[in-house]
Amino acid sequence: MSRILRVNMTNLTAQPEVVPEKYETLGGRGLTSTIVADEVPATCHPLGPNNKVVFAPGVVGGTSAPNCGRLSVGGKSPLTGGIKEANAGGIAGQKIARLGIKAIVVEGQAPDGKLHVLRVDKNGASLLRAGDLAGKGMYEVDTLIWQRYPNKPGVIGIGPAGEMRMVSAGVSVNDEENGPGRYAGRGGLGAVGAKGLKAIVVDDAGGPGVTVADAEGFRLGTKKLADAIAEHPITSSSLPNYGTAVLVNLINEAGGLPTRNFSSGRFEGAAKVSGEMINEVATKIRKGAGRVSHPCHADCIIKCSNVYPKPDGSYHVSAIEYESAYAFGPDCGIDDLDAVAELVRLSNDIGVDTIEAGATIAVAMEAGVVPFGDGPGAIRLLEEVGRGTPLGRIIGSGAVAAGRAFGVTRVPAVKGQAMPAYDPRAIKGIGVTYATSPMGADHTAGYTVAPEVLGVGGKVDPFDVSKAELSRNFQALTAFIDLTGYCLMAGFAVMYIASGLEGMVGSTSAVVGKNWTVEDAVNLGTQIVRTEREFNERAGFTKADDRLPEFMKYEPLPPHNTVFDVSDEELDAVHAG
Ligand code: SF4
Repeated sequence: MSRILRVNMTNLTAQPEVVPEKYETLGGRGLTSTIVADEVPATCHPLGPNNKVVFAPGVVGGTSAPNCGRLSVGGKSPLTGGIKEANAGGIAGQKIARLGIKAIVVEGQAPDGKLHVLRVDKNGASLLRAGDLAGKGMYEVDTLIWQRYPNKPGVIGIGPAGEMRMVSAGVSVNDEENGPGRYAGRGGLGAVGAKGLKAIVVDDAGGPGVTVADAEGFRLGTKKLADAIAEHPITSSSLPNYGTAVLVNLINEAGGLPTRNFSSGRFEGAAKVSGEMINEVATKIRKGAGRVSHPCHADCIIKCSNVYPKPDGSYHVSAIEYESAYAFGPDCGIDDLDAVAELVRLSNDIGVDTIEAGATIAVAMEAGVVPFGDGPGAIRLLEEVGRGTPLGRIIGSGAVAAGRAFGVTRVPAVKGQAMPAYDPRAIKGIGVTYATSPMGADHTAGYTVAPEVLGVGGKVDPFDVSKAELSRNFQALTAFIDLTGYCLMAGFAVMYIASGLEGMVGSTSAVVGKNWTVEDAVNLGTQIVRTEREFNERAGFTKADDRLPEFMKYEPLPPHNTVFDVSDEELDAVHAG
């Protein structure tokens, strides 16, 4: 039987609890957001003792389903001030599930301010002093933990940025090769360092595994899903060969690739930092450690990850994702893939969200702190973040804080969180999602880019301003997928192939002994988003927070020279009723 592990950092205790009935069919974001809404006072200080950070694998996590390793991290965000869920791949989510743990709830605050490590295995859980791990970057932390603990455990951890309570700090999860590059990056949840927790070590050896209530329903569902993933060209060919960075050229062509701090939608150097170029360097030019079709955990059958090599062929970083490539590449005017790789490696080590860090450096470039296109200059800024210098603390405080510090008005953020890699003036549906998601600007909250640009799940004009219904539907379905533990990459297949979506829903409900339809799944997703928005309302959010930054309404975006002209009424219609 599954348990919730409650970790009290004030008393330094870790105790299992019976799962309340209302949580039994939940997992992932559905569970983290429900626990946060139930237990965290909405007006509390995110870095204070009354906030909680919840770690939850999805409902199918730990089973034999394909691509089911997402780990959700939830809490009140120190970046947005609202509820937050961010999720990551890597190996820890499945291991937590296989130990029979539905969620780890971390509460309180270490009274002496010292950092600790939570060790979880089949015998229980205990808190130990972090000792020499304190202050270290995530590459060294992961290496030391694998040296000290048997069975190649899952490692969830924070780098120096999280220890310094920076609001751009993310939560790292190690991958199969013990690299730290899988991040629940968004929303500053790495500032969990304020609780006094440096890392969680998860050893699932001898664990009870996951009980599947309806084995036949699960088998049928996972087969349908796997067949859809194998059939769709994005999941069977584009992502394995070129990774998510295959989007660089596509979004550039659409005129929506944020360039030089969102001053253009097209970057002349896009091809140099694209998925095609990553493939070329990793598999043909340098080879060595370079790889494409790299999985971030076992049982991934899409394998969108990559290993980018140094000029001598040795390992540089895994992985360069589209969002990281945009943020450190076009948005900073940088067309040097080696500089982008180093910025991603530094982010993984220091423990910051690549989207927030890149967008913030771009704001600093706008102010002339370093010039656009200056790769070494951007690297120096990020190194300052790791050292916690005054300038580094400004950069580590995110795009909005940097905009204030440097007097920049073009700050691409919603609810305090920097925008991902799609300019909403050229792709309006994603702007509606950015504006109205309870998560702040977040492409994964409702990826309308699929029908607007990629022609997946229908074909929609990206410039059409009637996008409330589209965004609402995507936000609900995404919230459900985030509950399952399935990787959102599988979403490309299930949006296009109806039997794939039935398989995703059927396999998830089979684990918990239900018989959900697709309509039930969408209703469940709608309820999760409603719970999150109600938390935000209690925290003080209003309709005025469901808006894009003003400059996007008056500053036309080249090359299409369009502004964001979706009406406030349309935005308010997304969650009306
Ligand atoms: S598709 Fe990519 S992100 Fe998803 S599980 Fe596989 S490697 Fe990880």
